[in-house]
Amino acid sequence: MNKPMKNIRAYTGKQLHCKGWHQEAALRMLMNNLDPDVAERPEELIVYGGGGKAARNWECYHRITETLKRLENDETLLIQSGKPVGVFRTHEEAPRVLIANAHLVPRWATWEEFRKLDKMGLTMYGQMTAGSWIYIGSQGIVQGTYETFAECARQHFDGSLRGKLVVSAGLGGMGGAQPLAATMNGAAFLGIEVDESRIDMRINTGYCDVKCTSLDEAIEKVVEAKEKGEALSVGLLGNVAEVLPELMEREVIPDVLTDQTSAHDLRLGYIPAGYSLQEAAEKRENDPEGYESDVLDSMEVHVRTMLKMQEKGAVTFDYGNNLRGQVADRRGMQEAFDFPGFVPAYIRPLFCRGSGPFRWAALSGDPEDIAVTDKAILETFPEKEALRRWIRQAQEKIHFQGLPARICWLEYGERAEMGLRFNWLVKKGKVKAPIVIGRDHLDTGSVASPNRETEAMKDGSDAIADWPLLNAMLNTASGASWVSLHHGGGVGIGYSIHAGMVCVADGTDMAGRRLERVLTNDPGTGVMRHADAGYELAGQVARERGVDLPMKED
Ligand code: NAD
Repeated sequence: MNKPMKNIRAYTGKQLHCKGWHQEAALRMLMNNLDPDVAERPEELIVYGGGGKAARNWECYHRITETLKRLENDETLLIQSGKPVGVFRTHEEAPRVLIANAHLVPRWATWEEFRKLDKMGLTMYGQMTAGSWIYIGSQGIVQGTYETFAECARQHFDGSLRGKLVVSAGLGGMGGAQPLAATMNGAAFLGIEVDESRIDMRINTGYCDVKCTSLDEAIEKVVEAKEKGEALSVGLLGNVAEVLPELMEREVIPDVLTDQTSAHDLRLGYIPAGYSLQEAAEKRENDPEGYESDVLDSMEVHVRTMLKMQEKGAVTFDYGNNLRGQVADRRGMQEAFDFPGFVPAYIRPLFCRGSGPFRWAALSGDPEDIAVTDKAILETFPEKEALRRWIRQAQEKIHFQGLPARICWLEYGERAEMGLRFNWLVKKGKVKAPIVIGRDHLDTGSVASPNRETEAMKDGSDAIADWPLLNAMLNTASGASWVSLHHGGGVGIGYSIHAGMVCVADGTDMAGRRLERVLTNDPGTGVMRHADAGYELAGQVARERGVDLPMKED
């Protein structure tokens, strides 16, 4: 029962292993999260984002899969931080699974307390889509990263990163999307990564072009690519806290500078300067406090160098890993916030339109089904040129990891339209099995995270956490297939509360009703949240598209 499983691959095809497609989809997506081509460390149940896990331990994993297989179509399974704790009778259109991960009463919401309880086997860090079973590999973040770099290019470089050097660190589950997103925007990209196996994974999956183990060689390649205006991504083996100061010393100043190490987690996510991976693992175990102090020393050097490079003209932003928050809160380095977070800088106008990371996976396992859905997207939104460009590039450049999947950012109204279209494709047999539709927790109405999604809100409501709770409750009432409410994703324990939902298109009329409600209401909460905060664009979207907001009536 406690046995670790190796090489988990999601079931594919039309054959059910559960009593309905909603349970079957939850089962397949849980398995898919732990597929060795998808997860970063599947043997430890770690999917991505530092220690983001899919189930608390192997016993819980086996119990979840068994319970999903016996779960009736009017029952709901409750998951408490990765552990299946109860099955209750609900009704057919209710979610089949409800998930709460890593919550702590606010006074106790610290990493120290979390680690203590984790060690006692009482909780689990679920990140965003790890513990809510809708991670689709690095593709899940590629379009968001692509859009972020594209917006950065529009604001600072006349719309293209051609002839520009982008530097970042961390080529893990999410950070691994950066090289591809940068080259899709035409850039020369240098990604500093301390773990060689992570660079190899990005090269093998086509996300990164070249691996270098020498700084001289890496600089030569990216500078040449920049000068020639060629798109090229280089993964450099090294520690960012050492390499970045060295770049500064040599006056190699990036045009764009950011970071995606797992800085949110001082214990697991950031290797201090001077340590091998093995030495880091030992010190972490033998002297955790000393280790954290070394991590913070390196982060200070890292952030100071980012600030210096910003002064020298690098467009610098925090990429959602709470790097700034760590040195500000632990080392009093408030000037870390002199560079902005990526949401206020580039993403908020999208959120005001209810736009966010709509994603889906083909439960058939057949890539051809994704080609059918891509075609449906292109036919439904012929006028959206950026979306067309994205889908074409994704078809060409993205290697599927695990179940074939796709992501694209869609707005309020568009998501429901697409959900119904996908349900029709299933009903008519245009695809070979049902399609599962979900999203990242990083979305318009589903997060409270003052150092990331809700940084610098217009009305100062950054830390108000009622919104993700309302989002989760509304998605439950609307009949999503599964709904999750997590603490600490992205930026770490104490810093965020966020919700997720997944809804299955199995071609039935019931699925149609559920999809229409969920995919309308879910982004609707984002329009509501931003209109409430005083964003005129969100108010306009609400008025034009009929989102009923009592306090915004004339
Ligand atoms: P991950 O843990 O899979 O990868 C982090 C990588 O950083 C690892 O490969 C690690 O070896 C590397 N690393 C650690 N210390 C380093 C150092 N000193 N120098 C160079 N490399 C180092 O995490 P991930 O899933 O890629 O997420 C990265 C961060 O981004 C997390 O904090 C996560 O919460 C956050 N995140 C951002 C977004 C976004 O949209 N921007 C979305 C989700 C998560």
